[in-house]
Amino acid sequence: MTRIAIIGAGLSGLTAAQFLKDFADITIFDKSRGTGGRMATRRAAPYSFDHGTQFFTAKSKAFQSFIAPQIHAGVIERWDARFAQIEINKITSESIWNGNHPHYVGTPTMSTIGKYLSRELNINLNTRISKINKTSQWQLWDDKNKSQGTYDWVITTTPASQALELVPEWVCFHPKIKEVKMKACFSLMLGFNEALPLKFDAAHIIGRDISWITVNSSKPRRPDNFSLLIHSTNDWADAHIDDNRKFVEEHLCDQTSDTIGYDLSKATHRAIHGWRFANIDKSNSDTCHIDPDAQIAACGDWCIQGRIEAAFHSGHELATCLLQKMNPTGEINA
Ligand SMILES: Cc1cc2nc3c(=O)[nH]c(=O)nc-3n(C[C@H](O)[C@H](O)[C@H](O)COP(=O)(O)OP(=O)(O)OC[C@H]3O[C@@H](n4cnc5c(N)ncnc54)[C@H](O)[C@@H]3O)c2cc1C
Repeated sequence: MTRIAIIGAGLSGLTAAQFLKDFADITIFDKSRGTGGRMATRRAAPYSFDHGTQFFTAKSKAFQSFIAPQIHAGVIERWDARFAQIEINKITSESIWNGNHPHYVGTPTMSTIGKYLSRELNINLNTRISKINKTSQWQLWDDKNKSQGTYDWVITTTPASQALELVPEWVCFHPKIKEVKMKACFSLMLGFNEALPLKFDAAHIIGRDISWITVNSSKPRRPDNFSLLIHSTNDWADAHIDDNRKFVEEHLCDQTSDTIGYDLSKATHRAIHGWRFANIDKSNSDTCHIDPDAQIAACGDWCIQGRIEAAFHSGHELATCLLQKMNPTGEINA
């Protein structure tokens, strides 16, 4: 069987692994303590915060089929949130979802989806791959300079900037990765003793340094304790990603207080997380990248758009292309 190393256990990596696992010998590496990547949850009892992905839609048949078993298993549920748009501090529109595509969340946390997809996969967590080198095969090393084995193929599924650190310059799609510019984002997490009487569960904010507020506790099967999750704008995060975190926390907390008209400085729990590679605008590039001669490939949301469904499509497309190249003995032809 072809030995494949997948670097990154976010949705794109886990999707590729799910479609390839019956045809190849897959080993996955992730630098984090858990799987799911930006589909992440931070616990701070009695609160929990989905501090990355907020919700997602499934517009394509392929993604709908992929998530169907997870809906059946109770790992994914609909979130029929009350949505609002707020300009500076005024609600300018309010709605409840009524379109064709439900809003989905992982249950009881967003990170449950990664855990579910990781079952029966061979995953090495807490393992940051820092170097890959090709002789007759690909050899991987971690950041402690320990060899992590040799493989016929390598698939990187990390954000583009992190892929650029790994993929050698001579690989044919290296220039494509170099073109990609990902944007940063801060997530502010606030927990309260008592619920605030807000008129929305999720709000898109215009005209401030924050872009989004979610009542995290309004999502299905979350702890009852009232919690808010706030995102900065990408522009503000890009300009302040290396600033003192206390300053960032204070500023985003003040912005949120002014937006919703409540003094949030009295929150019983307050924490901040910075995502250096959070998001990307729509790309017109390839859905995934393959160098068949070098036996290396790359996928991830950055190939398409900063969305869960895009991460799925990139991983799915890559697995489909590799399976098409596979001969009956399980080798992937150049
Ligand atoms: C704040 C925020 C809010 C978002 N909100 C939404 C939303 O509401 N709806 C939506 O659809 N999308 C949203 N997104 C986007 C969505 O989360 C991503 O599109 C999707 O999760 C990307 O999946 P991926 O597999 O491409 O990458 P990732 O999830 O980033 O996975 C890459 C993995 O690679 C690992 N890794 C990186 N470098 C290495 C290395 N050297 N060695 C080993 N492992 C490594 C990382 O730890 C990570 O687990 C949001 C993202 C952020 C950050």
